[in-house]
Amino acid sequence: MHIDERADEIKICAYCPLMCKNVDAFHRHDGTETSAPHIRNMMLQKILQEKENPKDHPPETHLEEAAEVLYKTTLGGESTAWCGESMDIRANMIAGRTDVVEHGYAPPAVEDVRHRSQREHNAYGEPHNQRFANIDSTVLNRFQDRTAPSVGLWIGCTTAYYEPEIFESLAAILDASDVAAGIVEEERCCGLPQYKLGLRDTALDLMEHNANAINNRGFETLVVDCPECYRALNDYYPHFGHDISPEIVHSSQFIQTLLEEGTLELNSTVSETVSYHDPYELSRHTAPIDRNEYDTSDIHEPPREVLDSIPGLHREELRHNRNKAFSCGGDIGVRKMHPDVAQKVGQTVLDEVVTAGADTVAVASPECKRHLSETITENDLNLEVASIPELVARTL
Ligand code: SF4
Repeated sequence: MHIDERADEIKICAYCPLMCKNVDAFHRHDGTETSAPHIRNMMLQKILQEKENPKDHPPETHLEEAAEVLYKTTLGGESTAWCGESMDIRANMIAGRTDVVEHGYAPPAVEDVRHRSQREHNAYGEPHNQRFANIDSTVLNRFQDRTAPSVGLWIGCTTAYYEPEIFESLAAILDASDVAAGIVEEERCCGLPQYKLGLRDTALDLMEHNANAINNRGFETLVVDCPECYRALNDYYPHFGHDISPEIVHSSQFIQTLLEEGTLELNSTVSETVSYHDPYELSRHTAPIDRNEYDTSDIHEPPREVLDSIPGLHREELRHNRNKAFSCGGDIGVRKMHPDVAQKVGQTVLDEVVTAGADTVAVASPECKRHLSETITENDLNLEVASIPELVARTL
């Protein structure tokens, strides 16, 4: 079982005096005892104990019960950031979820993601042959026409299907900087959403396909805006034997370099007070499998430095920021299985934006943009959500 590899960590959390439960984004709003981090680990610890001391029923049967609680988390890593032991509790949950799926106890919503991903190569189940249909075709065509550029732009599912203006803004920034870039036409979901839900085999298929597609393009640099894709390509792909040839750079890092080199000039002045929301895949080292193998630096400052370069933009920090930032609730599993909690989690971030006195929340993640935008609409709030590329593109 996958939880065997996490036995030591699961035991520590199972017997811990609960100091992290007050920062767990899901538990704060769900309020039930079963969503507390240590209870989720106790479920797994019970299975590990019964494996050592077998009773009259196989310990795996407890996975059905565990499935009820293992999906009650955003996997955002608040606990890890606050834990005195820096416990990678998210890795425990992913191991448990993988065992749940492999023993046939996957919740229907997880099975749904599996089928959608296998059929359409994205977790949303949107038609694969329409992946780029929402992007302005005149912009997209320019990127498709470039046959051997050194820079690639990875679009990602959420941007492609729901937030195409993020890609269009990045394209405008690259054009203004005279950087010729191409896309990976065969791009599919990065596989991390599936992996985090416990759909390991589906995730590994997606990773293998994408690794080949990327490496065949011959890019030197691949610019990635979605933090989940960034983390997948940087950390998970190499871990599973799929080294990526180009250097993976987050869009905020790439824009920061263009600004520092003087290649990109921001000409117009805006008049906005903005708070930046750190997405957890960029702001916390939540590498899932083997900490010693991974060393992806957390990305806190490039998004802030880019925002501070925008003429007229005034930035106010949220109370919880950088590695202590709260998740926004945009995780696909929580949105599908616990939509009420997902919205309350998003509302917490927006409350901090209002308290900070900002009228705009700047995001570095298409999933954060989509989820916070929906939360604003549903709660009729007078706030705007904008991605960093969009805010930059407004000044060109
Ligand atoms: S993550 Fe840390 S604080 Fe939370 S239950 Fe585990 S050991 Fe305790």
